[in-house]
Amino acid sequence: MQIKTAKFVMSNSDVAKCPNSPLPEYAFIGRSNVGKSSLINMLTERKSLAKVSGKPGKTRLINHFLINESWHLVDLPGYGYAKVSKKEKKIFQKYITDYFRKRPQLVNTFLLVDIRHEPQPIDIEFMTWLGKNQIPFSIIFTKSDKLKSHQVENNIANYSTELMETWAELPPIFITSSSKKTGRDEVLNYIEQINQS
Ligand code: GDP
Repeated sequence: MQIKTAKFVMSNSDVAKCPNSPLPEYAFIGRSNVGKSSLINMLTERKSLAKVSGKPGKTRLINHFLINESWHLVDLPGYGYAKVSKKEKKIFQKYITDYFRKRPQLVNTFLLVDIRHEPQPIDIEFMTWLGKNQIPFSIIFTKSDKLKSHQVENNIANYSTELMETWAELPPIFITSSSKKTGRDEVLNYIEQINQS
C-alpha cells in the first residue's frame, strides 16, 4: 500500500467523541517508549505525524489519523509507565478499554513489543484481555535493529513458546525497525489485505 495522504483528525479521551465515521480502524498500542510514534511516522512516511518523545507516557489520548481517505490509524496511549499516578492509570485504562469495547469500526489492533525484552506480564495480560473480548490483534516487534539477526530469531522463538502456553494459534507477527525502515511493507500490505477482504 502506498500512503498518499495522512492527516491528523482529532485527539480525545472519550470513545463517544471519536470520529463519527464508518471507516475501518487499525489501532496501535504498547508500553510507553516501545517505539510507537516512530513506527507510525515510519509507516506513514511523515516525520512527525505522531510525536516521538524522549519522555515516556506523554501521549495519553486516543489519536485518530485519516490515511488515504479510506481508513483510520488510531494511536492509543502507551501503557505501563510507572510515573503515572494510580488514579490516573485507572481513568486511563477505562477509556482504553471503552475504546476497544465500544468501537465497532476497530478491525485490528497492533500490539507493539520491544524485541529486546522477554515477554512482559503487562503485555501478556493485555493480549489475554483482547482475546477474552474477541478483539483481533497482531504483534509488531519493534527496534529490531538493536539486535543481531540470530538474537531476533531467538527472542521471537522464546516469545512464541510463551504465547503457545495460552494460545492455540499464534497471532500474526511483524518484525520492524523504524530506524532502518524495515517491516513497513509487511504491516501496510496486511492492512490493505484486510481492507480488501
Ligand atoms: P513511544 O513512546 O512508544 O511513542 O516511542 P517513541 O517512538 O517515542 O520511541 C522511544 C525511543 O525509542 C526514542 O528514543 C526513539 O528514537 C527510539 N526508537 C524508536 N523506534 C526505534 C527503532 O526502530 N530503532 C531504534 N534503534 N530506536 C528506536
